[in-house]
Amino acid sequence: MSVKANCHCGAVQIEMSHAPDALLECNCSTCGRYGAKWGYFTTDEVTVTAADGATSFYVWGDRTTNFHHCNTCGCLTHYTAADGAESDRVAVNGRMMTDRKLMDSLPMKYFDGRDSWSMVDKLPVD
Ligand SMILES: [Zn+2]
Repeated sequence: MSVKANCHCGAVQIEMSHAPDALLECNCSTCGRYGAKWGYFTTDEVTVTAADGATSFYVWGDRTTNFHHCNTCGCLTHYTAADGAESDRVAVNGRMMTDRKLMDSLPMKYFDGRDSWSMVDKLPVD
């Protein structure tokens, strides 16, 4: 069953072919600031609908990932592989899921992107 997500103002609509198995929280320098809960998909499983110019993206460092946000409400909606990065991964920010109960019911996973670069049971607290 498809699952929907949208930014706060509704300018960005996302449809996923199914609910993610889990959502992942990462504490790297970008994700840790965004506070996103990522659900992972391949490009064929996700449809993003937004008017031209409705979104912008941020890319940094080794330029592998484009973090997309809504230009109106500022919500970080998803990320895609940057041009030239050989990946068909799309990550949807689970916090945008229309069905909040479904979002809260998904198992959480944690990735320590700041220090050990590995999956952990719990993100370390400094
Ligand atoms: Zn918006």
